[in-house]
Amino acid sequence: MSRQKIIAGNWKMNKTPGEAVGLAQAIKAACAKAPKAKVVVCPPFTALAAVSAVVRGGAVALGAQNMHWEKSGAYTGEVSAAMLLDLGCSYVILGHSERRTYFGETDETVNRKVKAALAAGLIPIVCVGETLAQRKENQTDAVVSAQVVNGLAGLGADLGRIVVAYEPVWAIGTGLTATPAQAQAVHALIRGKLTELGGAALAQTIAIQYGGSMKPDNAPELLSQTDIDGGLIGGAALDAVSFMGIVNAA
Ligand code: PEP
Repeated sequence: MSRQKIIAGNWKMNKTPGEAVGLAQAIKAACAKAPKAKVVVCPPFTALAAVSAVVRGGAVALGAQNMHWEKSGAYTGEVSAAMLLDLGCSYVILGHSERRTYFGETDETVNRKVKAALAAGLIPIVCVGETLAQRKENQTDAVVSAQVVNGLAGLGADLGRIVVAYEPVWAIGTGLTATPAQAQAVHALIRGKLTELGGAALAQTIAIQYGGSMKPDNAPELLSQTDIDGGLIGGAALDAVSFMGIVNAA
């Protein structure tokens, strides 16, 4: 099964709107040659409108880094799926390990957000991954399986509209990368869980990205693994040259 690779840049809490426009313009220009991979940029909320104006109508898609599951109401500091759609977003990152670690997100809240995003027409990029302590205790399979099964429960046929990102927490922003074999093993496990949830035919269509210190030099080998269908990129996405190095490796 050949799945289109998807490379998404998670800019986290970086870039003012002005800085974000510059980066988005550079990525848009570099993508004018129609890369084989699907390219997504995920600026902070405050830069979404400005970046949306840059990438509108081009090959680069826009994503947000989080959202609330409710449609509206008294949720100070939160944004809804409809607000993101209105700004031109088509993707939203959900359940990133930084949100799970610092902001108390659980598989249950991730599941609510995934359902709300899908209902609104956004494509969720759902992040899963184990900590270093969990890996050392041989808990990787159990932890990642539970995150997939609980975070993606009850989606029905909509399961086929999501993207999963496997991001070992110990590899995020640390310069440590899972070896291609380590990553492939967990990606195969995730595809197995997706098969249990939605059947083999559907599971084969779902893109599973790798994230965790992916750079232009390690991207080719990671992206050549059978079940690695792209990358969710943090640090290397903040520079157009390194981000495009990964896009062009895909
Ligand atoms: C991330 O935060 O999603 C990520 C993969 O970060 P980095 O590439 O910096 O490890």
